[in-house]
Amino acid sequence: MNRAIRFLPIFLLCLACAPAPPGGEAAEVARMDWALAIHGGAGVPLGSLTETEQEAYLESLERALSAGAETLEAGGSSLDAVEAVIRLLEEDELFNAGRGAVFTSDGRNELDASIMDGATLDGGAVTGVTTVKSPIGLARLVMEQTDHVLLAGEGAESFAGTQGVERVDPGYFFTQKRWDTLQRVLGAEESQGGGTVGAVALDRAGNLAAGTSTGGLTGKLPGRVGDTPILGAGTYADNRSCAVSCTGHGEEFIRRSVAFRVATLVRETGLSVGEAARKVVQDELRQGDGGLIAVGADGDVAMVFNTPGMFRGAADSAGRFELGIWD
Ligand code: ASP
Repeated sequence: MNRAIRFLPIFLLCLACAPAPPGGEAAEVARMDWALAIHGGAGVPLGSLTETEQEAYLESLERALSAGAETLEAGGSSLDAVEAVIRLLEEDELFNAGRGAVFTSDGRNELDASIMDGATLDGGAVTGVTTVKSPIGLARLVMEQTDHVLLAGEGAESFAGTQGVERVDPGYFFTQKRWDTLQRVLGAEESQGGGTVGAVALDRAGNLAAGTSTGGLTGKLPGRVGDTPILGAGTYADNRSCAVSCTGHGEEFIRRSVAFRVATLVRETGLSVGEAARKVVQDELRQGDGGLIAVGADGDVAMVFNTPGMFRGAADSAGRFELGIWD
């Protein structure tokens, strides 16, 4: 695609955000038939990507956003759109989810994911899986095929065995880039995030859904569980308020129940989705903690972060189709 055309939406996104705090959305939005927002993680350090790398990220986000938008445009459910987007991003080693998952301190990949249905408040999640190609697909099966919400480790793997989901050798998740990052992080004795993926959607039936998938933090202790598989922390959806997917320093998002906090502010105080998201990310979290995407029952989208960048995109039934990385 012509470069100028491809980057025009990003330019427009920057213009739309200009008067608002970083990543904030300011304008009033008419009720949409459908709307979608996606993220590929916050915490991208400024100047850390070459132009070629930025283009690769944007192309991947564009593919995922298009797939989700097509699903919603055709009348598909918000759950299907969220799963379709996240499956694609999980297959792309650029992102810290599925194939590109980061390593634990002992050099393994332990993957987490969750999905939530805003119509029913049903949810499904998995944590610490090591052989499941698409953790988001397995999370959806937990939601739809069991009475439970969260399956962990060996139990999640056994469940995967009963569901016929695609399994891979743990070596599938090895990428040199993530391995090199682990060596740097181990040297510095700190864990490091970035690259988690997520999606939130409103469908033509008026139903909201949210999903998130991650490898967690590079250098995390084996068995560590972040916010991603915890409903209310990293993921939440409720038709009465909004759908939220978070990315960032998971412990902080768990402590503050960030996804639920945004939804509760919308439902109980009448703040718009953008106002609620900005309040939590800009006023309540610490600078550098991360960001989130959210969509309300009217299709109002927020993409807010307190890091230099967050890979992201938004589309809706009125023709919006935007991608972005930096403020
Ligand atoms: N929130 C994820 C976790 O803490 C990491 C991230 O979003 O980058 O596991």
